[in-house]
Amino acid sequence: MSQKITGVKGMNDILPGDVEVWQHVERTTRELFSLFGYGEVRTPMVEDTALFVRSVGETTDIVGKEMYTFEDKGGRSLSLRPEGTAPAARAYIEHSVANQEPVTRWFYMGPMFRYERMKTGRYRQFHQIGAEGYGSKEPAQDVEMMDMVVQLLLKLGLTDVSLNINSLGDDACRPAYQTRLVEHLRAHASELCSDCQVRLEKNPLRVLDCKNERCQQIASAAPNILESLCEPCRAHFAEVQRKLDALEIKYVVNPRIMRGLDYYTRTTFEFIAAHPVLGTASTVGGGGRYDKLVKSLGGPDVPAVGFGLGLDRLCLLLKESGQQFGRATDLFIAVADEGSADAGFTLTSRLRREGFRVEFDTRGGSLKSQMKRADKVGAVFTLVLGEAERQSGQAQLKRMAGGDPTPVRLDELAQTLRTALKAH
Ligand SMILES: [Zn+2]
Ligand SMILES: [Zn+2]
Repeated sequence: MSQKITGVKGMNDILPGDVEVWQHVERTTRELFSLFGYGEVRTPMVEDTALFVRSVGETTDIVGKEMYTFEDKGGRSLSLRPEGTAPAARAYIEHSVANQEPVTRWFYMGPMFRYERMKTGRYRQFHQIGAEGYGSKEPAQDVEMMDMVVQLLLKLGLTDVSLNINSLGDDACRPAYQTRLVEHLRAHASELCSDCQVRLEKNPLRVLDCKNERCQQIASAAPNILESLCEPCRAHFAEVQRKLDALEIKYVVNPRIMRGLDYYTRTTFEFIAAHPVLGTASTVGGGGRYDKLVKSLGGPDVPAVGFGLGLDRLCLLLKESGQQFGRATDLFIAVADEGSADAGFTLTSRLRREGFRVEFDTRGGSLKSQMKRADKVGAVFTLVLGEAERQSGQAQLKRMAGGDPTPVRLDELAQTLRTALKAH
């Protein structure tokens, strides 16, 4: 016997039965985001490693530990994308989009890759829905992004999610804050985890969202970034809150929302779900403003704001909600004898062309086994075709849930079925 080959750890198959939930989320997203004027962008799964080193940041866990990096046959260092913002920015710059329009609204969906420790809702191939808005530095653009996520969660029926917002300041005020933060952290340096000892020197803000318990205690006593904002940053953040209020979007101001990436400036936000199925992976998405990123990647000086949502986690929550997705089988056509197999097969195809979801057992077999199959696929109606039905051109349309069968002329089956399904 041949050795069985299994899938790669942390990379999941999504089979029919589950995929309907995914399709529902994807369809809902596409419909809703188009209402906001966002166009879908599709970038490759693989990028030049330097793109992520320069944008996400060398000292982040993502670039430092979690990237799938490899050399191709031409000796280039390539990486599977660990996130979607940097590839979108790369495409935005490469196609000179800024020259064609002052404001650009893009969204994307697809798999991302990080070599992470696995937990519920956290996988090595994970899926994200993200959006980016380029060209506006105004608070309205930040709030439009948050509104879009809020509307999506509402449409999906996920109401138990809270929006947390923060501001990380900018070049004018963050350095002074960082100095005060480092002073506080230095006093506790020996108690920090080994990762944070390094962060303390290279990127002290990241200590604030370390998951280590002792680090969190030290962080909770650290100076509050919101008290260090300069006047323009303070005004920007106040306006974000005023606009959220105007849209009646509930939120919590949380000075610990750092996001795990180096490129954020000013507004950052996270959507946190309180559901046991997610365990510690309770953040379903988040984002923020990154006014310097496009320029730092060699593009024009264009401000931007974006977010990413974890599709895996959204689907987990949606499955828990007990909603049903996917379309039921309208009709199962069974054949009573081998001589009717051709007629059954042809009738099935004809009805599918009319837009019905019809199932037919291509293996034939006993009527009993076919009816079992009809039950298994959850068909709403069944129709048995035998010699008598073929001769008379009449058959019985039977509701699987019970009740008297309806006599139907085979040449009028489509109309009768349509009416019967409407009544169903
Ligand atoms: Zn730590
Ligand atoms: Zn500032």
